[in-house]
Amino acid sequence: MSDCLFCKIAAGEIPSSKVYEDALCYAFDDIDPKAPTHFLVIPKQHIPSVAAVDESNSAVVAHCLAVIAKIAREKGMDSFRVVSNTGEQAGQSVFHLHFHVLSGRDMTWPPG
Ligand code: AMP
Ligand code: ZN
Repeated sequence: MSDCLFCKIAAGEIPSSKVYEDALCYAFDDIDPKAPTHFLVIPKQHIPSVAAVDESNSAVVAHCLAVIAKIAREKGMDSFRVVSNTGEQAGQSVFHLHFHVLSGRDMTWPPG
């Protein structure tokens, strides 16, 4: 999608701190970290949010989760939180599906 911040980051048109990349997904550090470790994993394909996941694109979403597990193993993260804010009321500000991965501090439940 031409006017999407995360499509541009995935395409390398806007700089980011890359954590991981393959043909299907891209991971990069969040610019405003909320934990000692806070990166985002996105599909390269433009999917607006979890609400737009269906049988036609769920394989790439599953791949993103497998990549999260792989990065966590490689970084030695044995405890972490995966969040995907969906819709404005839930706090979504960028409308390209992304999984926040947060680690390195105690976390509370429920989230605010
Ligand atoms: P959300 O508010 O759940 O949609 O998450 C969007 C996230 O993108 C926020 O945590 C922002 O800090 C992060 N973000 C926004 N712009 C950038 C950027 N240029 N590089 C890295 N992270 C960004
Ligand atoms: Zn996009």
